[in-house]
Amino acid sequence: MTWQGMALPHNLMVLWRRAMPCVFLAATAAFAADFSGASAFKYTQAAVAFGPRPSGSAANRELQAYIRTQLRMLKCEMTEDPFVAKTPKGDIPMTNIIAKFPGRSGHAIVVTGHFDTKLFPGRKFVGANDGGSSTGLLMELARDLNGTTRVDDVYVVFFDGEEAVNDWTETDSVYGSRHLAYKWKADGTLARIKALVNVDMIGDKSLGVLIEENSTASLRKLVWNAASELGYKAYFLETGEKVDDDHMPFLKLGVPSLDIIDFDYEPWHKDSDTLDKLSAKSLEIVGTVVLESVHRLERQ
Ligand SMILES: [Zn+2]
Repeated sequence: MTWQGMALPHNLMVLWRRAMPCVFLAATAAFAADFSGASAFKYTQAAVAFGPRPSGSAANRELQAYIRTQLRMLKCEMTEDPFVAKTPKGDIPMTNIIAKFPGRSGHAIVVTGHFDTKLFPGRKFVGANDGGSSTGLLMELARDLNGTTRVDDVYVVFFDGEEAVNDWTETDSVYGSRHLAYKWKADGTLARIKALVNVDMIGDKSLGVLIEENSTASLRKLVWNAASELGYKAYFLETGEKVDDDHMPFLKLGVPSLDIIDFDYEPWHKDSDTLDKLSAKSLEIVGTVVLESVHRLERQ
């Protein structure tokens, strides 16, 4: 059925047509304004307070418990994807945590990021930006999605095991996302995914999201357009490079996927990757753009 087929009185149709763009704009604005950078920063702080959080560590498990506790306060379907990863340092138990905000279309949109930090034995690497910022952004995103009516299923996924146990290779990296991609391929979820957006290292005070060149071009355009229309064009760069990240296993299986990453970060994998390098504003910019992009994807 089309709107034209509804035989509305002509004057009502005119009014409706005039009103629609305003309704959409208002809805978009209200939706986009909901993401709080201050709140995302607090969640990031909470994650960082657990200390170094490599996969399989006590601190990693404590952070998992924290994420579960937070998600249980929301109206979402929380599931877990536990598995044992075969790593160069032996078997390591890992767990992805998934929050689903159900829609009705049968399609799905997925926003992901990792909560583990890279293992540096003997050091105090707390990964405020690398592991912390993605955790904080996803928690705040889940809080914003709470209680909303969705068109598509919206999944917020906290990946374990993004980091290499030794040096990054195809088999020593992205353990959590590889596991979930294959699990979702097997159970049919993968075929329902319209788009996957991964966030990583997005809290830097000096924010500059690069064009990740492996990512799906049309999805990048949608996100960059949203950023531009929200007034954040300056933070979404026109230059790029290829970055291997948690989106890749899904991309390789045919899911339109995008990595939102600011890789120009001096303290990367250094003990100086601490909270003072981050800003709530950067988290708010990226979170607002991601939330708006989810909204736009649902209208597609
Ligand atoms: Zn890292």
